[in-house]
Amino acid sequence: MPSSVANESQFRFQSSRSRASCPSRTPSEPDSPAATPSCDVVDQALAELQLQSQEISEKDLLVASTSRQGRSGWQIKASQLSINTHNRIRNIVESLKIKPNPEKPMIPLSIGDPTTFGNLKAADETMKAVLHSLESGKFNGYAHTQGHEVARQAVAKYSAHQRPDGEIDPNEVVLCSGCSSALEYCILALADRGQNVLVPRPGFCLYGTLTEGLDIEVRYYDLLPDQEWRADLVQLESLIDENTAALLINNPSNPCGSVFDEEHLLQLIDICERHYLPIIADEIYEHFVFPGSKHVAVSSLTKEVPVLSCGGLTKRFLVPGWRMGWIIIHDRKQRLANSIVGLKNMCGRILGSNTIIQGALPEILTKTPQSYFDGVIDVLHSNATLAYKMLKTVRGLNPVMPNGAMYMMIGVSIERFPAFKDDTHFVQELVNEQSVFCLPGSCFEYPGYVRIVLTVPGPMIEEACSRMAEFCDRHFKKDSRAFIEHGLLDEDLAF
Ligand SMILES: *Cc1c(COP(=O)(O)O)cnc(C)c1O
Repeated sequence: MPSSVANESQFRFQSSRSRASCPSRTPSEPDSPAATPSCDVVDQALAELQLQSQEISEKDLLVASTSRQGRSGWQIKASQLSINTHNRIRNIVESLKIKPNPEKPMIPLSIGDPTTFGNLKAADETMKAVLHSLESGKFNGYAHTQGHEVARQAVAKYSAHQRPDGEIDPNEVVLCSGCSSALEYCILALADRGQNVLVPRPGFCLYGTLTEGLDIEVRYYDLLPDQEWRADLVQLESLIDENTAALLINNPSNPCGSVFDEEHLLQLIDICERHYLPIIADEIYEHFVFPGSKHVAVSSLTKEVPVLSCGGLTKRFLVPGWRMGWIIIHDRKQRLANSIVGLKNMCGRILGSNTIIQGALPEILTKTPQSYFDGVIDVLHSNATLAYKMLKTVRGLNPVMPNGAMYMMIGVSIERFPAFKDDTHFVQELVNEQSVFCLPGSCFEYPGYVRIVLTVPGPMIEEACSRMAEFCDRHFKKDSRAFIEHGLLDEDLAF
């Protein structure tokens, strides 16, 4: 340590010590050398505090002394957070060497935006509500940091099923810029650097994107494809330690399209109750379930375990660009205490949700007709049924029928396709030969699978499935010894 720094920090130590006044000293004896016992205790505590802070001030000073020299050139560095933040889907997709077959029009079953294909549109009622909000001229200013009261009231009413035995107060609603920012606020309010959050595998890659740059660890609990993607409870519980800040569940699931039943949700609640863990529930696909399935909000099943439920307009109302999401705080026994303060503090950072859409919320949430939602579910369900039926008969593929959301996972028996190294390679060659683009399971921490979206027009999904069948037939090898032989020739296969 440079001596000048040591001297400076010593000086700071002494001067702050001499500034400290002991409450037991009266003004009449300001410099009395004989301290009373209570004053000793205070002094000792102060000294301890100062010893601790000495380390910090030394570091501060080091930083200060370097910066005093200034820069000698343009040495701009990106922040750690920004460099360590990654979008997994983008990274994997950009690394593919893709040259679609020019003879076949491209079918992108990879795009998660349901408005891309033009067959699914927002309801007229939904769009008119925004016009009315705009025309009222009442929503051009800043809103309350949690969002306008009328908008939060509307969300509280709309979400009443999440708490069948009580009302949701507008104060328990936080409006955010899309469900993504709702999730970010929840994670930031509950977890510190060095802590961990349990997230599903396969799972939506945003959870990793939001945490890794902050040094919050993501721990993956497994979903089991042969049990309708229920969580492996034993493995999940084994991940929990004293640094686990929350369990994140995504129900219905992206990418699985699975819907947890009540029994399974109760099992998850039980684990959280035993380990004192709050739940972050990504329920952006609530109500997005196929006939025969039912979505149960996890918060409706417990008063003991606090739940932060994240939702929004994005998927159900088919308006991802509007960026309207929300958090509903379910904390019946006030267990989240100052995390709620933290959560509300987070809202002060950017006042993130658009006020024109806030103003439209009461109308959007009450006037969009049920027939509209039913129509959307119809399209998704019939696409799912069609794709499942067609792909089930394809050798080497193993589709898992979804019960909700807008995706289907398809297992790829990669050992049957010796020409391909892994799911990513399979996806790349499927584009190059057939111009059908799926997302590799690796994007969801789940190699060996691919994900397709179900939001495309029916004839398109039919065409995509027959091309996938053709592709698989061409590359399927019955004799798995062929794989071993080819495996030895890996270099020849490398692209
Ligand atoms: C689409 C999606 C989101 C993000 O929704 P936005 O409102 O667009 O931010 C969050 N979670 C899951 C599982 C999603 O599929």
